[in-house]
Amino acid sequence: MAASRGRRWVEWVCAALGQVSGSPYNPLRFLEPLCTWLFAVAVVSGLGVFVFYPLSPWEASAVVAGWSGYSVQGLLRSVHRYSSDALLAGVVLHGVVMVLEGKFWRWLEWLSGLVMLGIVVGIGWSGFVLVWDTQAQLLGFLIARLLAGSGIFPVALARLFLGGEATELGGFFRVALFGHIALTLLLLIGLWIHLGRLSRPRLLPPLPLQLWSVALLLVMALLFPVRSQSALGTQVLPIAVEVDPLYAAVLWLLRWFPSWGVWLVLGIFGIALAVLPAVGRQAVGHPQIDWERCDGCQQCALDCPYEAIVMRQFENGMKAQLLPERCVGCALCVAACPEHGIRSPVAPPLAAPLPGRVVLLTCAGMPLPERFARAPFVRIERPCVGSVHAEQLQELLRSYAVAVVHCQRCVYRLGEQWAMERLAGQRRPRIRHRALVQQQLLVVEWSPRAWSHLEAWARQHVSGDGVAQQHTAEQRQETR
Ligand code: SF4
Ligand code: SF4
Repeated sequence: MAASRGRRWVEWVCAALGQVSGSPYNPLRFLEPLCTWLFAVAVVSGLGVFVFYPLSPWEASAVVAGWSGYSVQGLLRSVHRYSSDALLAGVVLHGVVMVLEGKFWRWLEWLSGLVMLGIVVGIGWSGFVLVWDTQAQLLGFLIARLLAGSGIFPVALARLFLGGEATELGGFFRVALFGHIALTLLLLIGLWIHLGRLSRPRLLPPLPLQLWSVALLLVMALLFPVRSQSALGTQVLPIAVEVDPLYAAVLWLLRWFPSWGVWLVLGIFGIALAVLPAVGRQAVGHPQIDWERCDGCQQCALDCPYEAIVMRQFENGMKAQLLPERCVGCALCVAACPEHGIRSPVAPPLAAPLPGRVVLLTCAGMPLPERFARAPFVRIERPCVGSVHAEQLQELLRSYAVAVVHCQRCVYRLGEQWAMERLAGQRRPRIRHRALVQQQLLVVEWSPRAWSHLEAWARQHVSGDGVAQQHTAEQRQETR
């Protein structure tokens, strides 16, 4: 229930963004590939910065401060900074969306995501220190205080940034430089683990979205070039200096708590997030595979978005086997099996007769206006429209006009794509009677803009003459 409400919110926000950006390039729809793309932009622009960056703290301070906002170096620096900010915002948003969509209980993906969030923050902190200005001094001081609060690092570390010998800070600079590079490589490994159990992970958003995002970063870089603050000194702690609000958010806790208290807050928060998959897990309707029917065609293993079906060799041949710990209960495998060998409690067969003449086949949790809850409409919900078997849909089309209303952001990643490919006859199992699809079926994306079109289409099929019904009867004769 909570997950359905969450899905609703995501769908509303997605629709609102779709109105502005156009649905095919809706950033929320491509949030995850957009994050990997922003990571790639941050890495490439960071490598560009690195080419011009001197590896000594005192030179770095003067050289970086001298980069004009409109020089190549300045633009690379600004793009690097803004793409990193956008990446952190995107990663946090991705976590929130996973919770709202009820997919956070996949523990490996959830825990690796949390670790990656920490790594992204660590990369940001070390990056700010490398600028070696007063912001670096303040952040360095706060980071050192935080580290000292863990009990592992000496308290004297923080004093280096206030009243210490400037030359003694060289070691901190080298650790920050090494950490910035090492954590970036670690993030790549984290990404590999995070995506390892996804089938066909999408790493990049569509090309126009890639270009738009880079153009936006460049515009930001030109309008608001990132500038250094005054050079780092150790006599006064610059507490009034401007710091990045996203990356420094955790460090600001030191304003209110002692450093051990911040660790305590972070520890409690971290443990609460880490155990969320265990405490928040909802019952998943696992499918059952009928081995009597299974002929080992592998289509279900190919179509499962979460690699939850594997093929195993048995005495009586190759059979599909479910890995329940990976299964999210999307039921896409039900629609994948040409032999009708997979059943799911959340996607029972479509049963006629239905109390209406226009069937709205929708993804679960999709908010629809009240008028679509009455005759002539009858609504059938499935976890995803991609879980409806093509042959069952064909049977339904013989007697009803059917509108497939799918999410803008496919909760189960591949459901919409598989459904569209089957309807277009490009994926097994296909709808054989193409005319039925053309005349009796409407496919719309969930959007308040679609309602009037949906109503007009339904009126056309229902309007007194019974054209659809009569035509269907003729076609039934034809196809038998
Ligand atoms: S229900 Fe979904 S996740 Fe589970 S096996 Fe079927 S396709 Fe895979
Ligand atoms: S799609 Fe059906 S027949 Fe093919 S391997 Fe899976 S269960 Fe077996």
